[in-house]
Amino acid sequence: MSQELSGKTVLVTGGSRGIGREITLGVARAGANVVSCYRQEGEHIETLAGELKNIPGDHRLVPADVTVPDEVEQLVAGVRDNYGSLHGIVHNAGVISHVPFGKLPLAEWNRVVDTSLTAAYLIVNRALPLLSEGSSVVAIGSRVATVGIPLRAHYTAAKSALIGLVRGLTKELGPSGIRVNLVSPGMIETPEAAAKLTPEQRRVYEERYAEIIAMGRFGRPRDIAEAVLFLLSDRSAYITGENINVDGGI
Ligand code: NDP
Repeated sequence: MSQELSGKTVLVTGGSRGIGREITLGVARAGANVVSCYRQEGEHIETLAGELKNIPGDHRLVPADVTVPDEVEQLVAGVRDNYGSLHGIVHNAGVISHVPFGKLPLAEWNRVVDTSLTAAYLIVNRALPLLSEGSSVVAIGSRVATVGIPLRAHYTAAKSALIGLVRGLTKELGPSGIRVNLVSPGMIETPEAAAKLTPEQRRVYEERYAEIIAMGRFGRPRDIAEAVLFLLSDRSAYITGENINVDGGI
């Protein structure tokens, strides 16, 4: 693995499971110090901490709910005090929610919008003083943001607005040499999601989605992490304001 992020520090939100976990490990393997936040404690945190210990660098797993301003401020203050500056921010935290629109409570709307969109505002707004020329911000969107999907109008709205936030920030931060991009996953099979499927559910899913995914398979967290690593690195030094779909050709 190339050490292209060597000596840099990257903040990842929602780094304890699924796609964020893979991004956390990928960033550390690329030579960066990684600070990765999560909400729920558990064995999975200890396992991830153990894996990070085997990768050179100063890596930290920090409990912080990105929808709570005070917790984001503490998280960012910790980064400032321990590392001084930030090369990258990956806002990956997101919650999946399926509710018919007519039955959608305001609290659920707020939970989804706060985690994907308002948290992106909080993180970048509070961490902006730590970014500088060459820094890279990557938000994790969703392929559904540009197509829509039943039962997920609220999620689609939040992820679409994230595209707008990225485009606006691109113009505002570009003159300072800070890039802002989005990676939009298609259907990614995380280990947790896979474990919840019965063999019959898996068969039905695979048949249904093979028809709409050109590559005929679900994506893997690694597929998303690779795109994020590219956008964090100097290999993408002239790419900003982009939304890269990583969806196997939906
Ligand atoms: P998971 O549910 O597997 O993991 C979500 C991660 O985000 C966990 O580490 C979780 O930590 C953390 N998290 C959630 N809410 C908060 C919060 N308020 N504060 C801090 N951390 C939080 O999700 P995926 O890996 O599947 O998805 C990751 C991202 O990719 C999301 O933004 C999602 O919308 C997007 N995406 C995923 C797709 C897929 O097919 N999997 C498709 C398209 C987009 P904890 O468990 O401690 O709460």
